[in-house]
Amino acid sequence: MLITENILEVRQRIAAAAARRGRNPAEVKLIAVTKTVDIPQMEQALALVDGFGENRVQELQRKYPFFPDGPDWHLIGHLQTNKVKQVVGKVSLIHSLDRINLAREISSVAQTLQVAAPVLVQVNISGEESKYGLAPGEVRDFLTTLADFPGIRVQGLMTMAPLAADPEEARPVFRGLAELAGDLARENIPGVSMKFLSMGMSNDFEIAVEEGANIVRVGSAIFGSRS
Ligand SMILES: *Cc1c(COP(=O)(O)O)cnc(C)c1O
Repeated sequence: MLITENILEVRQRIAAAAARRGRNPAEVKLIAVTKTVDIPQMEQALALVDGFGENRVQELQRKYPFFPDGPDWHLIGHLQTNKVKQVVGKVSLIHSLDRINLAREISSVAQTLQVAAPVLVQVNISGEESKYGLAPGEVRDFLTTLADFPGIRVQGLMTMAPLAADPEEARPVFRGLAELAGDLARENIPGVSMKFLSMGMSNDFEIAVEEGANIVRVGSAIFGSRS
């Protein structure tokens, strides 16, 4: 019950943020971040969100069989090369491509399975050392290199903002990612689409939507704090 209400409230806040920028709220996907969340709670959320996001492959593996009819699964956390086989073909989007070795492995597994693997390139806009992701200035060359990996389909960019007491502090980070995506889209790099901007979490998703996010990844505002 509470979960249902939380999701409706998050949707309303997304809609209000979109309206402030003249955007259509229907273009913003709400991914429920289900790390540490149990199956019954996930079942309550299933029909009301656009997908589940997990940041650990092992947890994704465990939960996946409980939902034979979908949802779309998103791998949002750091991905080790030796775990790629367990996610390609299962998830509809990997948000955390951040290095060439990983691209090589994703492409190779995807080709073996005769699928294309949709990915987002993770960018470290804030420059925090603790964050994964490419520096903004590295992304263009990285995307060009991906032409060597035919199993990969780049669909856009992902970032995480620093955790701050004031969510406004995330705004320059989100704006930076949106500007980078715009610049890259204009370059028309072969095989690269800038369709998705994955940014914004419980603390700052409205600001992300104002700055152009069309995928937000929301956990605690839906399921309560993980403590
Ligand atoms: C946990 C997590 C989220 C969601 O965080 P909340 O603050 O609970 O909304 C979003 N993205 C990533 C990559 C995460 O690991």
